[in-house]
Amino acid sequence: MTFVSEKINTLPPYLFSEFQKRKKELEEKGIDVIDLGIGAPDLPTPDFVIDRLVEEARKPHNHRYSTYSGVQEFKLAVADFYKNHYDVDLDPNTEILALIGSKEGIANVVQAVINPGDSVLVPNPGYPVYRTAVHLAGGKCVDLPLDASNGYEPLFNEVAQKDTDAAKLMFLNYPSNPTAATVDFNVFLKAVSFSRNNDLIAVNDAAYDLVTFNNYTAPSIMQVPGAKNHAVEFGSLSKSFNMTGWRIGYLVGNETIIKALTTLKSNIDTCQFLPIQLAAATALTSDLAVVRANNKVYQERMEKLHKALNEMGLEADKPKGTIFIWAKVPTGHTSASFAGQLLENAGVIVTPGSAFGTAGEGYIRVTLSVTSDRLDEVILRMENMMRALG
Ligand SMILES: *Cc1c(COP(=O)(O)O)cnc(C)c1O
Repeated sequence: MTFVSEKINTLPPYLFSEFQKRKKELEEKGIDVIDLGIGAPDLPTPDFVIDRLVEEARKPHNHRYSTYSGVQEFKLAVADFYKNHYDVDLDPNTEILALIGSKEGIANVVQAVINPGDSVLVPNPGYPVYRTAVHLAGGKCVDLPLDASNGYEPLFNEVAQKDTDAAKLMFLNYPSNPTAATVDFNVFLKAVSFSRNNDLIAVNDAAYDLVTFNNYTAPSIMQVPGAKNHAVEFGSLSKSFNMTGWRIGYLVGNETIIKALTTLKSNIDTCQFLPIQLAAATALTSDLAVVRANNKVYQERMEKLHKALNEMGLEADKPKGTIFIWAKVPTGHTSASFAGQLLENAGVIVTPGSAFGTAGEGYIRVTLSVTSDRLDEVILRMENMMRALG
């Protein structure tokens, strides 16, 4: 008798754990491994957010359960943020739900919306959680094709009609992990009309909404007129405020989807610790100066690494946002062989593009998660490796 469900047994292998195992082995041998493979920022959570957490944690009335959908101050802060940042009106009582990080919400929203056998359109390449969430819900993934040649905009017309007919949900992710692609508002216009025409719900994962460079501002899918009928959007404090470990995010938009997910979650969890929600509310209603300061840091790293990679022949588009660079591997290499070589010969960890779907083959994802000085070291090691290997 096996005590492990078929769902778990048939999960795709997590490619990345092999690299982490090898990293440990190399480190035990005294090798200095630089990890640009993780999907998380290295900068600290802003002090004013921590201060609010500490203040609220001392109040006994905050040690109780939160309401299922989140404490009012947090939902009002999300509404405020959408109004100030996007000029979008949201009803905190019906159109906003607090989450224990957006990853949880992504996995659960699929359970709340689809029936076993239903289809979900999933970007390829894309954040692997969409695919596993559909698998765990007994659904079927259909590739939403993306192509480097047009900046990884979704190719809605290339999805077969039978697949759009069968699909209930469509995941989008701009600014994007892993490709660092960003889009203009018209892509969201197209996405909402595609959703309306095919009677499905578009889900934009906006985990990097505030992590943008120069004068680029990422649009929200909720800015599309009528979006609330056919779209929801995930937000997270993890990347914009360096709060990955805190576990706080939100879902906004379509009332029916918000209600379905609230019902599902009320049977699984009881929302996040109140002081964390309140500290997150303080972050969202701040003037976002810390976000701009952090973006400067990422941009400086990005400019340096982007220039060096291109000079080494690893072509990459220049990102307008996110904490990633998505670069082509040299000819003759696969994603995994080049990532393996980087680890063995340069002591640098990157993520093979193939970990993000078949369309990620031929690329690596490099996270801007170390200081500028460490990046100089990365560049030096990579240059030496490329030279030595010809
Ligand atoms: C990091 C990340 C998330 C998860 O964020 P949490 O709120 O920490 O769960 C979701 N989507 C994408 C694309 C991410 O890169």
